[in-house]
Amino acid sequence: MKEKVRVRFAPSPTGGLHLGGVRTVLYNYLFAKKNEGSFIVRIEDTDQNRYVEGAEDYIFDCLDWCGLTPDESVRHGGDFGPYRQSERKTNYHQYAEQLVQDGNAYYAFDTAEELEKMRQTPSGDNSVQQYDHRTRMNMRNSLTLSTDEVNQLLAQKTPYVIRIKMPEEEQISFTDLIRGKLFFDSGVLDDKVLLKADGMPTYHLAVVVDDFLMQISHVFRGEEWLPSAPVHILLWKYLFGEENMPAWAHLPLLLGPNGKLSKRDGAKYGFPVYALQWTDPTTGDTTEGFKEKGFLPQGFINFLALLGWNDGSEKEIFTLDELIHSFSLQRVHNSGAHFDYEKAKWYNHEWMKKLDTTILMPAVNEVLKKNGLKITANEKLEKVIDLVKERCTLLPEFYAQASFFFQAPETIDSQAILPKWNEQKKQFFEALVNNLENASDFSAGALTKILNELVATHQLKPGEVMLPLRVMLVGGKFGPGVFDIMEILGKTESIKRIQQGLSIVAKA
Ligand code: GLU
Repeated sequence: MKEKVRVRFAPSPTGGLHLGGVRTVLYNYLFAKKNEGSFIVRIEDTDQNRYVEGAEDYIFDCLDWCGLTPDESVRHGGDFGPYRQSERKTNYHQYAEQLVQDGNAYYAFDTAEELEKMRQTPSGDNSVQQYDHRTRMNMRNSLTLSTDEVNQLLAQKTPYVIRIKMPEEEQISFTDLIRGKLFFDSGVLDDKVLLKADGMPTYHLAVVVDDFLMQISHVFRGEEWLPSAPVHILLWKYLFGEENMPAWAHLPLLLGPNGKLSKRDGAKYGFPVYALQWTDPTTGDTTEGFKEKGFLPQGFINFLALLGWNDGSEKEIFTLDELIHSFSLQRVHNSGAHFDYEKAKWYNHEWMKKLDTTILMPAVNEVLKKNGLKITANEKLEKVIDLVKERCTLLPEFYAQASFFFQAPETIDSQAILPKWNEQKKQFFEALVNNLENASDFSAGALTKILNELVATHQLKPGEVMLPLRVMLVGGKFGPGVFDIMEILGKTESIKRIQQGLSIVAKA
């Protein structure tokens, strides 16, 4: 194992960052921090056709929101830069050439038509035709052409790619940190392109060269990269020595209601799959993210960590520091983890209750502002958040739960009051207004006492007047304790709302 732990998240900037991607970031980050190592972000943008404007910024915005700060990246600097593969273009060519020199790769000059023709030719055994040990000797490449012909084609600047020469019969194996020992048969693998006609490396070459140059010690990546592992192992073996290869862990898939979690599942079942909102620059389509849905980064990170890992106990709520402390690869599951949106919301609710109100404040203020409510009374807002946060699962719910503290309800649910309304209650509320006006102490405790005494004099039960009182104050049958609400609203506002309520009920 390398001396220092250095891990990398290596996204291709092609679109929104989905749950699986953020979980990969998170496990990389946790492992790095746990082992006092470095967490590196490398932008893998060698495929110019897939490059999407804005996607790189978006990735860093996601990391910012999650609080997973890289130690080295395009934005954070570091000694192993550049951290964008398109700026490392000159690095790769020499390695591709070295592979050719050593007989492990070759130039291929085939045109698109020639490749298509090869694919369409029946294989004889019903297998799919691919560029491999069975077909390569029928193609136009440096294995079939003479040295002179090759040199001539190169001198004429004929477009070419460099392909790996996959061994005909070799068992390739490695030990995955999560899955154990895995074997691949080289005979069924194709001769992957390593260097493209535009001089850019493909992912396979670039990933190996950069993991070497950046001294990466461990690679955590999604299970979808497992089929590429044998190509990478061979490249390590040919270029840098298999013994220098980073340790690999292929993380299991995240599963949605129908197998692999997809953006389509999100649209169908109404849950987000991206961390942050993503707008496709070509279509203009916007997909809402967890942030916009009203998740707290703490809740998001927490549920994501537990999708495929646990600390061996029943503990479910973890701060980022606790995750770092408890994280171990041994406890990462080797089968797919089911994403359950209801459970994700449960985590968020737990965090809503747990987080200090001052931390929640800016996000709540934002929600209120979005709904046209500008709050300057921070002290009051703090009290309100304290009071209602346990009733909110997602941030937007704060509007319904908190706005009535700052603006009187425009209408009240008088239907909730009228069926049981009578003269006795009317007299009670008139007396209540009077008693409240005279109250010197407007704390929840004092208000409870005032009300209890008054119901007794009016031969009513507290239960009979609490609902109408609540509806008059907040507009409907919701909200925290009535006396807590009144304490925050204060004397003048509470009395005003009860009087308004009485006149609405009288007119109905
Ligand atoms: N660029 C690859 C991706 O987009 C990285 C795969 C890897 O981590 O090796 O996910």
